[in-house]
Amino acid sequence: MIGFPGGLRPRPDAACTCEPAWLALAVRLEDGTLIDVLPAATPGGLACLYAACCTRCAARYPHPFRVAPRTHAA
Ligand SMILES: [Zn+2]
Repeated sequence: MIGFPGGLRPRPDAACTCEPAWLALAVRLEDGTLIDVLPAATPGGLACLYAACCTRCAARYPHPFRVAPRTHAA
């Protein structure tokens, strides 16, 4: 499970302060749903509509990203 720490909001002007940086990214939809995303060479469809944030410090990810592939066990 991932989630932003309680009360922590995305910080548009901040860089990730985690070590390593941008270890875990997620997009938060209007209804609060969090979607895992991964850094990518080109932005996916979700990147056109939402901003990804670090799930640890809530810094906004400034580079292209795509929705992470599902990794549920078969
Ligand atoms: Zn961070």
